[in-house]
Amino acid sequence: MSTKLEKKISVCSLDCPDQCSLVLHIEDNHIIKVEGDKSHPVTQGQICNKVRHLGKRITSSERLTTPLKRIGPKGTQQFVPITWEEAIDMIATKWKTIIEKYGTESILPYSFYGNMGHLSSESIDRRFFYRLGSAKLERTICQAAGTTGYKYTMGSNIGTDPEDSIHAKLIILWGINAASTNMHQLSLAQQARKNGAKIITIDVFENQTAKFSDLFLKINPGTDGLLALGMMHLLFKKQLVDYSFLEKYTVGYKELEEHVKQYTPDFVAKEVGITVEQLETLAVMYGTTSPSYIRIGNGIGHHENGGMSTRAITCLPALTGQWLHIGGGCNKSNGDILLHDDNYLEMPHLDTAQQNKVINMNKIGEALLDEKLNIQSLYIYNCNLAVISPNLEKIKQGLMREDLFNVVHELFLTETTKYADLVLPAASSYEQLDFFTSYWHHYIQIQKPVLTPIGESKSNVEVFRLLAKALQFENKELFEQEEELIQRAMKNEDNPFISTLSYEELVEKEYVKAHVPKNLLPHLKTESKKIELYSKKMLEDGYLPLPTYIKNNLNMNYPFHFIATSNHNFLNSTFSNIEFHQALEKETVIFLHPTDAQALNISHMEQVLVRNENGSCELKAFVTDKTKEKVILANGLWSDSEKHLVNKLTPSTLTDLGRGSAMFTCTVEVVKIQ
Ligand code: SF4
Repeated sequence: MSTKLEKKISVCSLDCPDQCSLVLHIEDNHIIKVEGDKSHPVTQGQICNKVRHLGKRITSSERLTTPLKRIGPKGTQQFVPITWEEAIDMIATKWKTIIEKYGTESILPYSFYGNMGHLSSESIDRRFFYRLGSAKLERTICQAAGTTGYKYTMGSNIGTDPEDSIHAKLIILWGINAASTNMHQLSLAQQARKNGAKIITIDVFENQTAKFSDLFLKINPGTDGLLALGMMHLLFKKQLVDYSFLEKYTVGYKELEEHVKQYTPDFVAKEVGITVEQLETLAVMYGTTSPSYIRIGNGIGHHENGGMSTRAITCLPALTGQWLHIGGGCNKSNGDILLHDDNYLEMPHLDTAQQNKVINMNKIGEALLDEKLNIQSLYIYNCNLAVISPNLEKIKQGLMREDLFNVVHELFLTETTKYADLVLPAASSYEQLDFFTSYWHHYIQIQKPVLTPIGESKSNVEVFRLLAKALQFENKELFEQEEELIQRAMKNEDNPFISTLSYEELVEKEYVKAHVPKNLLPHLKTESKKIELYSKKMLEDGYLPLPTYIKNNLNMNYPFHFIATSNHNFLNSTFSNIEFHQALEKETVIFLHPTDAQALNISHMEQVLVRNENGSCELKAFVTDKTKEKVILANGLWSDSEKHLVNKLTPSTLTDLGRGSAMFTCTVEVVKIQ
């Protein structure tokens, strides 16, 4: 790479819907400055504060540069450098022994989307583990519940093009702190507001997004679906529904009309924690404004009832016929708009596993401690497991198992590498060729390598090729080159939206937009090809066919509902190890209502113990009425100290749909430290 100052187009690789196009100023293999790419139609040159300081992370002197072998007890982070040859040989030798003794399914890959590049997260890695015949991981920590609820209603992950949301006259930001987690949706909302749109935020906490809104409804945790059902009750009652749309494009509106009669305003308002007047205002605004657009957040899906809640909200645009208006409708995820040929990338037909052992990623702690499951080796990549996963104390017990052979492929020493036998240095997304598809807007972008890999770091694709060679796997599919992988993945015959896009065009233009018609209704993939307000499929799958409120199963032994929210300066655990970003976020706190603080005799910024049956944390109490009484929130996933790991409190229970993480269905007590 050149030592001269150069500007290179790049793409943000983080798990964020915005997928910003970036301009990196690079000198001597260092990122000197990061700007937004002004030419990108959605992100328009604006980037968040996290990524503005990306250089501090990517070219940090803390980056791992060589493989490391453990020399001290697990949990102490004591390693010595070794060569790649030694590291690959160690894995291959150990795995051969494990396979001989316990079978291939005693090895488990554990990964998520720390790097959203498709080659990094779901290509040769998946092919390799299929060929190995390893146990399977259900990757459902994040959006699984909401996506499942959405898909039962709409058939696939397709929704409103966010660029069209500037035409909306009403925008509801529901369960999403867009100011921190989808900032360009706020920019688009701002443009809509200039054209007269009103903005409503619905959340459990008065966050930065709430401040931006014309109306903010602070609701009780886990009542999102009930609020949507209460709105439906009023929309039918006040005849604010579009019966001709319902007749033509939906299934089951008559059953739904009858069903929602039980959700009376008095009951709904009380349970949701708002007034009947607020509920009426919301329903009437929604029922009388068109186009109206709902941005549905992932927060809703982290409650036990999150799948059904998301389904209830997804039904709303159909009631008022919003799908026929440009800018109307809703957007939970547009992941299927840019759906590439994932079958080709992952090649499940290579699978050699005999038993089909499947481990849900939210229950990894229990799985590691379950002798019957007999997990003997973990290979962790793209994921800081020991910070982001629920029920961390159990996970730690599992990771401390002396007989567990644990490999971690990472950019830095993290909480997770503490428990590794072997740490492999990972190349960042800026050091490799990959492609990215937003799950919110309609653009696909290529990442050409703009930095030389730091030290001896390697991409996931490279490491799995080395492992395949070491294990004498001869399948040519395991050695396919990056260009070919992208080229072939982009040819998805089943997705008409990307059928005219080509790899060559992507290489030339850096990003290209899917061709999506304004009217999505002919593209619905439900069995009926209509919006399924009543879902026969749900009934067949053992669920209630109509959107229904089911109260979350909270442990009432503890007085406070606890939620670990996102913060402005980290993305999950990414950046939480960088001092600069810690300083921006200032303190590890819980937000505690003044009434609760007074009852517990706790002062503002006093250190407190937060605990439940799963574990405990020590955090500072930030006393504020931005939260509700009896609801406390933590500001992000800090990893600066074990005392601050808030996922020590969260349960590993699963959601109603999609087997996602119900980490927000959690109660705790707060204790003054004497
Ligand atoms: S984290 Fe999100 S908002 Fe920030 S630069 Fe990346 S894609 Fe853009």
